[in-house]
Amino acid sequence: MALIVKKFGGTSVGNLAKIRNVANRVIKSYDQGNNVVVILSAMAGVTDGLIKLAKQITDTPQKRELDALMATGEQTTAALLAIILQSMGYKAQSLLGFQAEVRTDCAFGNARIIDIGANRIKTLLENRYIVVVAGFQGSDLEGNITTLGRGGSDTSAVAIAAALKADCCEIYTDVDGVYTADPNICKHARKLEKITFDEMLEMASLGAKVLQIRSVEFAKKYDVPVHVRSSFSEEEGTMVISEENGMERLIVTGVTYKKDEARITMKKVPDQPGIAAKIFTPIAGAGINVDMIIQNTRQGGQTDLTFTVPRDDFKHAMEIGRSVAKEISAEDVIGDDGIAKVSVTGVGMKNHSGVASKMFSTLASENINILLISTSEIRISCIVAEKHVELAVRALHTAFGLDKTE
Ligand code: ASP
Ligand code: MG
Repeated sequence: MALIVKKFGGTSVGNLAKIRNVANRVIKSYDQGNNVVVILSAMAGVTDGLIKLAKQITDTPQKRELDALMATGEQTTAALLAIILQSMGYKAQSLLGFQAEVRTDCAFGNARIIDIGANRIKTLLENRYIVVVAGFQGSDLEGNITTLGRGGSDTSAVAIAAALKADCCEIYTDVDGVYTADPNICKHARKLEKITFDEMLEMASLGAKVLQIRSVEFAKKYDVPVHVRSSFSEEEGTMVISEENGMERLIVTGVTYKKDEARITMKKVPDQPGIAAKIFTPIAGAGINVDMIIQNTRQGGQTDLTFTVPRDDFKHAMEIGRSVAKEISAEDVIGDDGIAKVSVTGVGMKNHSGVASKMFSTLASENINILLISTSEIRISCIVAEKHVELAVRALHTAFGLDKTE
């Protein structure tokens, strides 16, 4: 008998028929003798709809109230599943975040879990209840309802699995696992049997949308094996696990891309101590996340400085850039929001050379110009023109031997 946490995403609970399907899957595992905790998202589209409602009233609804509002989506699905399970003759109980003792800080809209006092869940499990927990929500030390950031029920699931020392955390979703590339643009993409936490972390931040990044951080920290799989088939999905678990080390595990980037270049910036701080302090102050930064070599006491920001923040970052440029007597600020990032990720890169050169020559052979490059121990990313990014993904997928063979 195992303790299994099963999380179902928005499309898996999109209507009553789908919630019944969830109930059947849960019961199957329960009837095999397992203890089962279910974490649910809101029905697909509901969270967006609730935010829209609030925004019809004001552009800036108070974050505390927005959390109270958004949390109702998960309250609905959790109660509905409990009702269905009970109507099928099973002992089941739904718990909201605060009832499951999911304690968070008070950063409304993006709260972090501080701890989970899983006593109530444990008692219910001891009495052979199926416990259904509303994902995405918790409460702060004052008892206010908080939410964990969009996609946050993944994090609820992994954190609860960690707190209960569950044997596995299964994330049921509308894709059947983690792929070597987005199957929508790369028809040769393959489903991965296994992937390490580190690779998944990189890939999630590089554009793979399967898991909320924070849930992977949690899984890594507490070593919770995560099984990403489809709600609509019995097939095994992808196991996200620690590296020690005897994995074959692929040099490159996946090719990801991200289209929502923009590039800003400050021309002829004085090459003096303190200048980079002058540029990036106000940008950070505006809450803008800078990704890559490249400074060119000095020419006549001046240098060009290029960086990338999320495309949504492009206009704002350009405004800040222009005003700083005046202050530090930089010559000009130019921007380009038609760029995208393509990355290759793999733990095997740590002790293999030649990955970068292969990536660059592959892009060259497709006549794709590289605008910026950045690397980590297990990843290489290139910024290219947005219109080339899908071709870049396909070419790299083939070049690194990831194409499925059939
Ligand atoms: N319902 C929330 C959202 O749409 C949380 C989740 O689905 O994970 O972001
Ligand atoms: Mg999700």
